[in-house]
Parts: sequence; C-alpha cells; structure tokens
Amino acid sequence: MDLTLSLEQEAVRDTAREFAEKRLLPHAAEHDADESFPIDAVRKLADQGLLGMMIPVEHGGAEMDAISYALALMELGRADASVAVTLSVNNLVAECVTQWGADEQKKKFLPRLSTAEGLGAFAVTEPHCGSDVQAMRTRADLKGDHYVLNGEKVWITNASNAGTFLVIAGTDPVKRTKGFSAFLIEGGTAGMTVGKPEPKMGQRASHACPVVFTDCCVPIENRLGPEGSGIKIALSALDSGRIGIASISTGIIQACNDEMIRYAKDRVAFGKPISDFQAVQWMIADTVVDFEAARGLTLLTASRKQAREPFSDKAAIAKLFASEAANRAAYRAVQVHGGYGYSRDYRVERLYRDARVLTLYEGTSEIQRLVIARNALK
Ligand SMILES: Cc1cc2nc3c(=O)[nH]c(=O)nc-3n(C[C@H](O)[C@H](O)[C@H](O)COP(=O)(O)OP(=O)(O)OC[C@H]3O[C@@H](n4cnc5c(N)ncnc54)[C@H](O)[C@@H]3O)c2cc1C
Repeated sequence: MDLTLSLEQEAVRDTAREFAEKRLLPHAAEHDADESFPIDAVRKLADQGLLGMMIPVEHGGAEMDAISYALALMELGRADASVAVTLSVNNLVAECVTQWGADEQKKKFLPRLSTAEGLGAFAVTEPHCGSDVQAMRTRADLKGDHYVLNGEKVWITNASNAGTFLVIAGTDPVKRTKGFSAFLIEGGTAGMTVGKPEPKMGQRASHACPVVFTDCCVPIENRLGPEGSGIKIALSALDSGRIGIASISTGIIQACNDEMIRYAKDRVAFGKPISDFQAVQWMIADTVVDFEAARGLTLLTASRKQAREPFSDKAAIAKLFASEAANRAAYRAVQVHGGYGYSRDYRVERLYRDARVLTLYEGTSEIQRLVIARNALK
C-alpha cells in the first residue's frame, strides 16, 4: 500500500497535532488526576471541525476521509487518550447514523453529533455480558407508536456528557442475532438514568458510566435501521471503532517513544547517557518497529474502508496488534525511566495506565483473535 499522504491528509494531521500539543497535552495530567471530563477541549474540538470529522458536510460535519480520521486520532491519542476515545466513540455513533439512518434521523441527529452538547455514547455492554453480546437482557417492547426500554448497561463511555445515545436492546431475543434492535435516544429522556463514572485505572478523563432504563419510552421513529438489525449495526460500528482504537494505540506508542528517547539522551549512568547502552537502544528500536507496524496496519485498514472494500478482519488485526504493541511500548517506556517511570510526576506513568484498556474495550484481544481465526479458517 502506498502510504504517501495527500496534502489534505497532511493538513488534517498537522491541525490535530497542533491542537493536541497546545490544547490537550498541557492539561492531560490534571484531568487524569482529578478524573474531570475535559468539556472545554471537546468544545474546542467541535469548533475545529474535529468532532464531526466523518459526518457529511450537508449535515454539519467535515466529511473527512478515513485515513485523515485515523491520522487525527493518532495525534490526539499521543497527547491524551481520554480525549481521543471521547471523539472515537462519538464518531462511531455518527457513522452508524450516517450508514443506517433514515433521512429524518440524519437531519435530526448528525448536526448534534458535531457539537459537544450532542456528544454520542454507544451502549451495548451489560453487567453480566460484554463479549457475548447476544446475552444482552435489556428489552425494548413495542407498545403502539413507541418502544418501552427496561434494563441496565454498564461501562458506557461519554454517558456522563452525552446528548445522543445509541442503544442496542432485545426486541425479540429468541430470534438470536435477529432479535435485537438499535435505538437513538436523546440525553435527558425520562426513564434513562446515567450513574456515576466508574473509578478507572487509566483514561480517567473519559467517563464510562452505568445507564439504567426504567420504562423509558422511545418513539418508533428513533429506531435505527429495521427491527432485528441491532447486532448487525453494533458489529459494523465496532469494525469502524477498531480503526479508532488502533489509531489511539499508535498515538500512545509514539508518545512512549518520544518520552523514552528524550529521557535516554538525558539520563546519565556509569558516566554516559543511558542511550549509549545497547539494552536501552533495543527497547527504543523495538518501540520504533511497533510504531511503524501499528501505523501501517491502521492506515491500511483505513484505506480499505475508504475504498469501500471489506475491512472487518483487517480492523481486528490492526486493533489487536496496535493495542498489544501500545502495552509493550508503555512497559518499555517505564523501564527506560527506571524508578522515575513509576512516579506520577512522569508522563510515562499515565501512558502505562492509559494503554491497559486498549486490549479490553471494543472487543478484547481474545475476541479479535476469534474474528481473525474465523476469517482465516473460512
Ligand atoms: C474503560 C471502558 C470503556 C468501555 N466503553 C464501552 C462503551 O462505550 N460501550 C459499551 O457497550 N461497552 C463499553 N465497554 C465494555 C467493553 O466493551 C467490555 O468490557 C468488553 O467487551 C469485554 O466484556 P466484559 O468486560 O464483559 O468481559 P467478558 O466478556 O466477560 O470477558 C472476560 C474474559 O473472557 C474472555 N472471553 C470472553 N469470551 C471469550 C471467547 N469466546 N473466547 C475467548 N475468550 C473469551 C475475554 O477476552 C476476557 O479476557 C467499556 C469497557 C471499559 C473498561
């Protein structure tokens, strides 16, 4: 694949890099420490057209290509993975509305998803099931001209600040994969309660909350796609979402390398900079390789998506490799810093914690391997 970027793609990457360095990085440690949602940064992302990056222009977005999107997320993830994942989940919801929405739904929901106030959240996981999506128990029962939702979702990213929820619930679960449907629900709808954010290990400025539905009435016109297509919509959303998580992972790998190289040149042991020791050089070399491989796989997947070619298995490969590589990179970055790497005063300590969840959400590494193996064996 030719990785030469167009002038537009370079411009998007440079805009995102400047934004990330000036607006995100200086505040990332503070938001991590107090677990505060960076609403100002999200508003500024919206002002720059970065929140609605993939939303069609006619619906208020910037309609960028999939490679530009991946490049921008890499830059944001390099500075602050919490903000990057906020944007990535918002985009996942926006892409679902773009792909599956009726004209009226696009007109209503897409312009909002370009703003901080309409921020998107995607609700599948429940207390007893994450990987096994068909075990969902949340019900959506049709009563006249509306559905009544009852059940509980957990770990819903952006829920504390979301204006637009995409919720998957059972409409006829005995039909197995065809027994679930997708619904667009506005924030503040009666019967939908958002709980307190989970106290997390990393990405602490991104809020993941429980969401409880108690006789929550959703008009029939808010069902996204035909009844029974909820699992199909969720899985297609996750294919695109995995490009986002692979991009954020790539950004974290680059941040680890930035920090390792800076520290290794500066820190002296046994009378010379530690960058002179081959053991340290190898940790840097391995991280450079991980970065190049993660970036290449991610952009390859994005280019297939842009070309409208099937990309589901490639997205699983990119997400698996990049998320595991980010954890390796973060381990090495702490190692190169010695004891200081364990201090909250150093950025690598946050990178280490921020990297951990990458192999868990939007499909664990084991689930990515299932997808890849199934495709290889078919
Ligand atoms: C910070 C954070 C944010 C999140 N945001 C969202 C969100 O916005 N929306 C949302 O819906 N969910 C979200 N999630 C939930 C996330 O997607 C799930 O945690 C994830 O899919 C795993 O599900 P689980 O936690 O139920 O683990 P389980 O599915 O119970 O898995 C437990 C372990 O068993 C393994 N396992 C399970 N099934 C298999 C199998 N068939 N083969 C091999 N191994 C298997 C898993 O890989 C894992 O190691 C978030 C989670 C976190 C931590």
